[in-house]
Amino acid sequence: MTSNGRRPLLNRRLAEFGTTIFAEMSALALSTGSINLGQGFPDTDGPEEIREAAVRALRDGRGNQYPPGPGVPELRTAIAAHQKHRYGLAYDPDREVLVTAGATEAIAASLLALVEPGDEVIALEPYYDSYAASIAMAGGTRIPVTLRPHEETRDGVTHRRFRLDLDELRDAVTDNTRLLLVNTPHNPTGTVLTREELGEIAKLAVERDLLVITDEVYEHLVFDEAEHLPLASFPGMRERTVTIGSAGKTFSFTGWKVGWVTGTPDLVTAVRSAKQFLTYVASGPFQYAVAEALALPDTYFAAFRADMLAKRDVLAAGLTEAGFKVFQPAGTYFITTDIRPLGESDGFAFCRALPERAGVVAIPNAVFYDHREAGAPFVRFAFCKRTEVLVDAAERLRKAFAH
Ligand code: PMP
Ligand code: GLN
Repeated sequence: MTSNGRRPLLNRRLAEFGTTIFAEMSALALSTGSINLGQGFPDTDGPEEIREAAVRALRDGRGNQYPPGPGVPELRTAIAAHQKHRYGLAYDPDREVLVTAGATEAIAASLLALVEPGDEVIALEPYYDSYAASIAMAGGTRIPVTLRPHEETRDGVTHRRFRLDLDELRDAVTDNTRLLLVNTPHNPTGTVLTREELGEIAKLAVERDLLVITDEVYEHLVFDEAEHLPLASFPGMRERTVTIGSAGKTFSFTGWKVGWVTGTPDLVTAVRSAKQFLTYVASGPFQYAVAEALALPDTYFAAFRADMLAKRDVLAAGLTEAGFKVFQPAGTYFITTDIRPLGESDGFAFCRALPERAGVVAIPNAVFYDHREAGAPFVRFAFCKRTEVLVDAAERLRKAFAH
């Protein structure tokens, strides 16, 4: 009850969520005139020819009225061709591909379709914030399995990553577990799950007969020796895995909100049952443009990755110089840092003060944790920004923190 004795407006399932951290931090960046390294969106648009493809679709009247529920055939065919070309995974564009309003809707629809109230859903913690809200809307119980910071020195070089403890994952599975919600490359830690880790996840899913939803929106953003391996390509996984992709990250058009699901006909039909009552359809003309984007030559993807890698290195060097402990990401467009070397331990307080202290906005990783204390000292910076912006941000951070 509220103080006036009436029921709270927001229902119990959503009460804990408040405003998403991304909206809060982007507003803070605007109101303080800070450099926004919080919310992950590029500050330049994707390829001109793809933007033109959207304009052409609009002008030609393609997609200006409701597109078909599963998505326009051109895009479904392009998604299937992409999965085949990249990973050797064959999907039937008519029965095994579904276009959604971004990955966000794909996540929500998958969970709403596959989870019964009371089912347990295991998610890797820190988790992308919409997972928790979507599990709650589906009436499920989230069971976080924490990725732990890990450091090792090889050939005199220190490597840091957040690592999945496979025993912890195994122990988290109960008779009530319905599905595993996996994300690789992983937001916010930048971890890319290895072949071995994915193999163990697959074995566990098969052994315990679990469904898997795998969020692979950063599939094209992997660096150094890291390799993106789709979970659906592991033995026994194709028939139990809903794979989620998105055009937003890969083509730098996050506002277009074109995402997709691939899976068996049964899984895709189930997800579509929920999806049709969320948005029904979305992004008509953009679907045609994304179909063209997915067919870009491999050189586009290689150049995009090289560009992001260079940006990562600029920001990572700046953060290191400013005194942060940097977890060099193997994927995504985020760097997670540990602020304890700066004499700080509360990421929330740190991020709230950061605009004032340095004119930069970042995200406290604790918002992505149920075990808030495990995430307290970690702060995430996005590097999907123009190089001069990253250089400026690095300089501001160095001035504020390096002694
Ligand atoms: N999953 C992850 C891991 C993300 O970081 C994001 C944010 N881009 C999404 C899903 C949502 O993607 P979209 O913008 O396509 O809805
Ligand atoms: N995925 C983006 C991030 O992690 C944010 C998307 C959003 O604002 N919902 O920063």
